[in-house]
Amino acid sequence: MLILMRVGATEDHIQAVVAVIRQHGHEPLVLPGEDRRAVGIPDALSPDERINLETILGSLEFVSKVTQTSRPYKLASLEFHPERTQITLKGVQLGGGGPFVIMGGPCSVESYEQFAAAGEIVKQSGAQVLRGGAFKPRSSPYAFQGLAEEGLKIIKQVGDETGLITISEVMSPDLVGLVGEYVDILQIGARSMQNFPLLIEAGKSGKPVFLKRGPSATIDEFLLAAEYVLAQGNPNVLLCERGVAPLDRSYTRNTLDLAAVPVLKEHSHLPVVVDPSHGTGVARYVRSMARAAMVAGADGVMVEMHPNPKVALSDGAQALTPEQFLRLTAELQELERFLAALESRP
Ligand code: PEP
Ligand code: MN
Repeated sequence: MLILMRVGATEDHIQAVVAVIRQHGHEPLVLPGEDRRAVGIPDALSPDERINLETILGSLEFVSKVTQTSRPYKLASLEFHPERTQITLKGVQLGGGGPFVIMGGPCSVESYEQFAAAGEIVKQSGAQVLRGGAFKPRSSPYAFQGLAEEGLKIIKQVGDETGLITISEVMSPDLVGLVGEYVDILQIGARSMQNFPLLIEAGKSGKPVFLKRGPSATIDEFLLAAEYVLAQGNPNVLLCERGVAPLDRSYTRNTLDLAAVPVLKEHSHLPVVVDPSHGTGVARYVRSMARAAMVAGADGVMVEMHPNPKVALSDGAQALTPEQFLRLTAELQELERFLAALESRP
């Protein structure tokens, strides 16, 4: 439920609303706003409670309107949080109208030499975030599972050497602390999107969380997964569209749902990043989909790049070469300037 105040409502008017909500056993959320303030009730209300509260709150002075929020997520919604979330790490702003964020790096950390070479390219390109998996969610238990803590140490070292923000996946709740010691952003993979104990633990850690959309997750399920992290008092969540289960696997690995970008931006304040690498599974499609992601309004992209994709231990088919990555990042930077000029036209 959302209680919209009239223009000119004072702190006392807000507090009167807050008091009624508390009397009814709910914790209100006072929403920031310049001239039109609002108070939200994130809890689900029974029909009786809803009618009751609607009547009482609606009769209070300076309450303009009491509305039912139509969406099941609250903390993730733009309605409850009209200011867009911006996360600042190592002096770089992610989301919230900041510069377009480019995250690049190999699927897996394979060795110091491999990851340092990738870090060098990412740094040179002007991208801000270095990615690499140390714990890999693989379809087969016989496939390369990642270097685990050794991989995390490599990520930390290359992150320190390059000054880049680092991100790596955490697959289980008991490893949140360990991964969080080494990297700046915790990635929660598509397969783990509804691992609720993991979401809660990542929420408790306070570390920024990069949440990938599950292959079959609806938008509501995706935002409710983000809600789990936010509900732990951790406001730093980034959403990642990485493709959903495809109708046809013979041409692409997944179906990149680019329409999810404007949808998520319309309903949520959280930054939205697109992963065209897992979204297509094919290196030669990554460039066009990354450019499309920017045009669609994404706050950033995550792109897999390997110093030598032919010998990659995972996801080589979708990894860009360093040359392709440098070309793409330069194009994205140019496209960003072009779009800014377009936006500023009267
Ligand atoms: C990855 O980023 O390497 C990865 C495993 O992604 P996803 O969870 O989207 O499959
Ligand atoms: Mn991968």
